[in-house]
Amino acid sequence: MRKPLMAGNWKMYKTAPETRAFFQTFALLVTQSGHCEIVICPTFPNLAAAAEATQGTRIEIGAQDMYWAKEGAFTGEVSGPMLLAVGAKWVLVGHSERRQYFGETNQTVLKRTVAALEYGLKPIVCVGEKLEERESGRTEALLAEQFREGIAQLSSEQFAKIVIAYEPVWAIGTGRTATPEIAADAHRFLRSLVASDYGQDAAAAVRILYGGSVKPDNVKILMAQPDIDGVLVGGASLDPAGFACIVNF
Ligand code: PEP
Repeated sequence: MRKPLMAGNWKMYKTAPETRAFFQTFALLVTQSGHCEIVICPTFPNLAAAAEATQGTRIEIGAQDMYWAKEGAFTGEVSGPMLLAVGAKWVLVGHSERRQYFGETNQTVLKRTVAALEYGLKPIVCVGEKLEERESGRTEALLAEQFREGIAQLSSEQFAKIVIAYEPVWAIGTGRTATPEIAADAHRFLRSLVASDYGQDAAAAVRILYGGSVKPDNVKILMAQPDIDGVLVGGASLDPAGFACIVNF
């Protein structure tokens, strides 16, 4: 009932020619991938090239961040309408690298998510604990806080349009994937938070992606967990053949 969503976050990698070359190969490898939705999130300057290269395919394009205002004196920022205008349909919100290096907070995650929805973009809202939080037994408290402050302020109508990504910070770019059990526990916990705030139907409907060192050789076991509805992939989404293997898990 929940269609898998396989998303790639290219972080600060690839030029426009490299973006076009990726899609030339990748698009051919996922023509039979009707079992899932596919989203790739390149850097801002390459969104237009990516949107053009994926026209007529099932691959959709997302941005890695956005600002909440429509326009204005916000040097360096990019708004929802600007993303839509270059062909983006999705946007990542609250990625841990945005939280860690660029001052993203639960409060600004909420503002970006609300703005994304207002402009018709589909937000993938990222949550996840740091290593010290996991090791001190505070994973659930932290996830509950990120959920309560950054997500649970949305109305039911707004919530129905978002995707959640659980990305334990200690597993991102480290080669250290959460075990399927750890990931499954966190996903189950997040779904229980959704159930208590938005009801059982919303909990059954929301897609929760796992992210953190997903690779072709571990995607299958992760996707076998009932509460994992897709993946958000960084490093391994840069290679067309590798990411196609992940998409076609
Ligand atoms: C990410 O950037 O969201 C991510 C999960 O990265 P990686 O797959 O490289 O760990």
